[in-house]
Amino acid sequence: MNYRPGRIFLSVPHMGGHEKNYVQKALEDNWVTSTGPNLPGFEHDICQHTNARHAVALNTGTAALHLALRLLGVKAGDEVICSTFTFVASANPILYMGATPVFVESEDETWNMCPDILRDTIIARLKAGKRPTAIILVHLYGMPANLSKIMAVADEFGIPVVEDAAESLGSRYSGHQVGTLGRIGVFSFDGNKIITTSSGGALVTEDQQLAEQALFLATHARDAAPYYQHSQMGYNYRLSNISAGIGRGQIEMLEKRVKQRREIFTYYKNQLQHIEGLQFLQEPKTCFSNRWLTTVLLPESHHPEKVRLALEEENIETRPLYKPLHLQPLFAQYPYYGNNLSANLFERGLCLPSSSSLTEEELDKVVKHLKRILEYV
Ligand SMILES: *Cc1c(COP(=O)(O)O)cnc(C)c1O
Repeated sequence: MNYRPGRIFLSVPHMGGHEKNYVQKALEDNWVTSTGPNLPGFEHDICQHTNARHAVALNTGTAALHLALRLLGVKAGDEVICSTFTFVASANPILYMGATPVFVESEDETWNMCPDILRDTIIARLKAGKRPTAIILVHLYGMPANLSKIMAVADEFGIPVVEDAAESLGSRYSGHQVGTLGRIGVFSFDGNKIITTSSGGALVTEDQQLAEQALFLATHARDAAPYYQHSQMGYNYRLSNISAGIGRGQIEMLEKRVKQRREIFTYYKNQLQHIEGLQFLQEPKTCFSNRWLTTVLLPESHHPEKVRLALEEENIETRPLYKPLHLQPLFAQYPYYGNNLSANLFERGLCLPSSSSLTEEELDKVVKHLKRILEYV
């Protein structure tokens, strides 16, 4: 950790105030492990906020993605399509299943999976005699992907979509909460996300059977017998009732956190957009982004790593955009379809401090130094 007092972080937890009431009640009632009233309570809250029909609270977003692939029947040797421009946790569960990831490039408009390249990819895989079992679609940095076109392509070929909405709780596409349009949606409540349970995740779906099966598999797949009997391999993926209590307090603040992160984006944009060559990711008309992280593309004359290090000197944390998965050593051997748009984003972009708890002074400090670095260096 590069911790020095006064540091401005990229994205930190932001307590709402009621978390401790839920946690204290759990401690008083001795519901401290993976059963207790905060779990259905939190799941109910998730459904209320997302309009999802069913939610299952889990101990990480990665676990939710892993379960999603298991529920969709992904088997060893299968192919699963995944956005290339994302965090590694979107694709690791494909490897957990012994399946093969097939990476699809982003579109310029949202930086998320390009529907046209997706269609070409499916056709190419079908020609090669491989029928993809599922599509993992990511809504990166809070920006919804082009859901109507992606779903149309997926439906054309009858391939189920898992929405990795880990970074985009509260974002909407044509008025629909992201995570609810695919067969399964996944959220993360890791410490750096828009709300947190310290560590946690959730799987949402319209399908009651899938939801029941998810809970069953997440709790060791125990058969209905008085003794411990197991017919299927399960996992230990349930969220704890303590963590769910934090989540209940956090989710009360979700709308406010979205508003705050959007205001941070607007502030950066207003202060910095005059800098020549600097670009912000705009919201297409159909999209409402939670602006989890404000991202910028820097002028060509400035290398992001130099800017990052210059801000680091001022005790300000920024982060490179994700290095696309098809360029990761871990995934180098797997198929990739596209034009390397995300490689270009990676070369040019930076994530700016975006915590909902940022003060005006802190924001001013980031802006002041960015202006200095970009305008006069
Ligand atoms: C954070 C994240 C995940 C994984 O969530 P965890 O709760 O950290 O396991 C998956 N996908 C994306 C895009 C993420 O940002």
